[in-house]
Amino acid sequence: MLSIIIPAYNEAKCVKSAYKVIDSLLRENNIDSEFIFVDDGSQDETYKMITELSDENENITGLHFSRNFGKESAISAGLSAVNGDCAVVIDCDLQHPPEKIIEMYRLWEQGYEIVEGIKKERGKEKKMHSVGAKIFYSVISRMAGFDMANSSDFKLMDRKVVDVLNKMPERGFFRAISYWVGYNKTTVEYDVKMRIDGESKWTTKGLLKYAISNISSYSTAPMQIVTALGCVMLIISIIFGIWALIDKIIGRALEGMTTVIIITIFIGSIVMISLGIIGYYIARIYEEIKGRPKYIISTSVKSKKTANSLK
Ligand code: UDP
Ligand code: MG
Repeated sequence: MLSIIIPAYNEAKCVKSAYKVIDSLLRENNIDSEFIFVDDGSQDETYKMITELSDENENITGLHFSRNFGKESAISAGLSAVNGDCAVVIDCDLQHPPEKIIEMYRLWEQGYEIVEGIKKERGKEKKMHSVGAKIFYSVISRMAGFDMANSSDFKLMDRKVVDVLNKMPERGFFRAISYWVGYNKTTVEYDVKMRIDGESKWTTKGLLKYAISNISSYSTAPMQIVTALGCVMLIISIIFGIWALIDKIIGRALEGMTTVIIITIFIGSIVMISLGIIGYYIARIYEEIKGRPKYIISTSVKSKKTANSLK
């Protein structure tokens, strides 16, 4: 059985059509399936739509978060409810083309354990977002040590992989963690389509926050940058030190107030930025150490097909 995980945040308009399209496609191809809709604390009627769907169909599981916890948490909740032999994560707005699920499934049947969806075309988005995404992926690819350009959350994973991910307690970046785990991988290219309805949940600020949090959860390189900056400053200070000494010896001291001011504020800013970077990591450690759950499920409907299997 194939489990379809669909995170949904304020997607009342998309839930039913997404189900209809994917379900009929899977039926045509004789693929047994279950659907796990994770309502990420929507304020609209998303959860109502999910419960209606679950009344009409037997293969629907619906989880409703107590508030908005973000897509990463929604995926995480979806993964822990998987009953299938493999699972696909797909967006509710069908920007990920559903026909690719079949292609991914066939590859899984051939023995691949992870089938990554790779964006061929990024679809319509703001210029700033596509430039930002390019920078973000090149930074994170370099840090993580594998090429994640154009990667997405659209992917199929074998049950084994799902179990491994479920055992990881950290608040990771799903896209990167699924690379990190290894396994026998392949990719499927797809074009990002237009949203079927509703609008994107991302703001520029939200994306920036997401990027910083993912880079920090994936790498300690920013801390090494602090060390590197320190070394650069040391070299500069040696040069200036020698210069100042020479000035003193030849009796030209006392001048150079401007240099003193510039150096002081420059060092001050570097120290503050460095403290900020270190402070950010400490905050992340604090977050993890508190051990709060990644999400809170306030209500749920279970699929009748796989009753009592919700953990
Ligand atoms: N989503 C979510 N929680 C959030 C934001 C988004 O579960 O806090 C879901 C959303 O419902 C959709 C998917 O994540 O199914 C992708 O979101 P969106 O289409 O807004 O992002 P974009 O496609 O613009 O990157
Ligand atoms: Mg979308």
